[in-house]
Amino acid sequence: MKIVVARMSGFCMGVRRAVEMILDTPERHPGPICTFGPLIHNPQVLELLASRNIRTLEEVPDRGEGTVLIRAHGVPPEIKRRLKESGFHVIDATCPRVVRVQSIIRRHARRHHAVIILGDPDHPEVAGLLGYAGERGVVVSTLAELERLPPFPEAILVAQTTQNTALFLEAVAWVARRHPHYKVYRTICDSTERRQEEVKRLAGAVDALIVVGGKSSGNTRRLFEIARATGKPAFHIEDERELEGLDAGLLARSRAIGITAGASTPNWVIRKVILALEHAVFRRKSPGHKVLYAFMRAALLTNAYVSLGAAGLCYAASLLQGVPEGAGAWMGVAYLYTQSMHILNHLTGSRADRFNEPDRARFYEERKVPLTAAALACGAGGLCLAFLQGGLPFLLLLAMSLLGLSYRLAVLPPGLAPGGIRRLQDIPGSKTVLIALAWGMVAALLPAIAGGRAYSPAAVLAFAWTAALVFVRTAFFDLLDMQGDRLVGKETIPILLGERRTRRMLQAILALLIAGLPTATALMGLPAIGYLLALSPAAMLAVLVAWERGAVLPGVRLEFLVESHILLAGGIALLWGWITA
Ligand code: SF4
Repeated sequence: MKIVVARMSGFCMGVRRAVEMILDTPERHPGPICTFGPLIHNPQVLELLASRNIRTLEEVPDRGEGTVLIRAHGVPPEIKRRLKESGFHVIDATCPRVVRVQSIIRRHARRHHAVIILGDPDHPEVAGLLGYAGERGVVVSTLAELERLPPFPEAILVAQTTQNTALFLEAVAWVARRHPHYKVYRTICDSTERRQEEVKRLAGAVDALIVVGGKSSGNTRRLFEIARATGKPAFHIEDERELEGLDAGLLARSRAIGITAGASTPNWVIRKVILALEHAVFRRKSPGHKVLYAFMRAALLTNAYVSLGAAGLCYAASLLQGVPEGAGAWMGVAYLYTQSMHILNHLTGSRADRFNEPDRARFYEERKVPLTAAALACGAGGLCLAFLQGGLPFLLLLAMSLLGLSYRLAVLPPGLAPGGIRRLQDIPGSKTVLIALAWGMVAALLPAIAGGRAYSPAAVLAFAWTAALVFVRTAFFDLLDMQGDRLVGKETIPILLGERRTRRMLQAILALLIAGLPTATALMGLPAIGYLLALSPAAMLAVLVAWERGAVLPGVRLEFLVESHILLAGGIALLWGWITA
C-alpha cells in the first residue's frame, strides 16, 4: 500500500503565525498570558500551553490582568474593546486574510449595505465577522437559507475564509441571477481553496482518503465532506489511535491511501498517522518485509545504525588522509562515543520527542535504566579506547563528553546569564553545530592528533567534510521536527532561518560537498577515494529532493535513508580499503 500525503496538509499561514506569536509572548509581554478561546483544536498543544502557564479564556472578565492573545479567527470589535477596557494588554493574532474580510464588512456596513456571510453560524470567525457587520449582518450556511432571505436594496456577499468553495460558487451564481446588484467578494482563503482542490485531485489517485484533524475544526470537517463527495471511502480521524476503528479490510485492500489534514492540525499528528499506517503496511507484508522493517526500526531506536555511520565516516576520513593504520581503534571510539551521546540526548530530550518522535519517546521512557547504563558503558568504553591511543586525544574526548553531558545543565545563575543564556542548549542552533563539530572531531581530528597530523591540510579537509555531512543530516531532522521543537521552546537552525531558507542552505552545502571534495582531491593530490565519497552527499541530496516532492514521507524509511547516506561513506571506504589492500 502506498501512502500519499497532500502537500497542503497541516498548519496554514494564519494558524502558524498565531502559534508563533503566543510562543513569543511570554518573553515580550506582561504575564499572566492567555488566549481568548482555544488557540487551536489540538489537546496536546493546549496541554503544552497550559504547562507554560498559558491559559484559555472563554469569557471577558470584569477585571483582566496580563496579556491576552486573540487567535487567528479574530473576534468582534466589541470583544476586543472589552478585553482592553478590562485591563488586558491585547495582542491581535487575527489572520491577515480574516482581517481583510473584516475590513470589507466594516466598510460596507458603514455605507448601510446588508452583509450576507456564507458560513457556519457557530464558528468563532463568523461570530467575529458578524460583529463588524452590526445589525446589518446575516449568516447563511446553505443555499436554501440564502434563497429565503428578503431582498436588500444594497448588499454584499462574503464567505467564511474556510468555506466550501463549491457551495460559495453556487451562492455566487444564484446572486448573479436573482440580485445582480449585490456585490460579491471572494473571501475564501487561497490556502483553503488549494487544500480543497488538492483533496479532489488526490482522490483520483488513491483508493481511500483519511482526513486528519479536530472533530470540532470547521475547515477539517469541510475537507472531510469534500473527500466524501469524491465518492472514495473517506475517514475523519483526530489522531493515529482512531486508525484502529477504521475498516481494516478496506485499508488492507487499498493500493494507495491519501492523507490530508486541516489547517489547525500540527504536523506531528500527521506524522504519527503516517507512522502508524507505515507500521500497518509492513505488518501485512511478506515475512521478509516485516523482518526488514523491524530491523530498520530497532537499528534506529537503539542508535546502532547512526553509530555505525560514525564509525564508517571515521574510516572514510582516515582513507581520505591516506593513513588507514590504526583506524580500527578510532572507529571503535567513534561508534561508542556516538552511541553514548545519542542515547543520553534522547533520554534527556524526550519532551520534544513526545511530539516529534512518539515511538522513540516511548522506547526511551520505558527503558530508562538499561539505556542509561548502556550510555555510560559506551561512554566509558570510548574513553578507555581513546586513552590507549594517546593522552591528548583522551583528554579532548573527555572534554567533549563532559560538554555533551552538560549541554542541558544550567551553569550560570539567572541574574548573570547574558541574554538569558544559562546553558549551552539556550544558544540558538547550538545542538546542530555542536553535533557536527563533535562528529568531525571524533571521526577525523582525534585520529589525526594522535598521529601528529592535526595541521595537515588533508586532516582539516576530512574534518570539514565530515562535520558538513553531519550538519546537513542533523539540520534535516530539525526541519522535520520544527513544529514540535518550536512548541517546547527549542531554537533550532530551521526555526531561526525558516524552513525554505534552511532547505536552500542544505542543498547548497550538499552541492558544495559534491563538487568540493573531488576538486580538493585533484588539487591536493589526495587518495582517489575522494572522488567516490562525493556519492554520499549526492545520495543525501536525492533524499532531500524526494522528501520535498513528497516521494518519501516522514517515518522509519525516511530516517533510515538519511542515516544510510552517512553509512554509504563507510561502505565506500570499506570497499576501497579492500580493493586497494
Ligand atoms: S485558513 Fe486562511 S484565513 Fe484562515 S487562518 Fe488559515 S490562512 Fe488565515
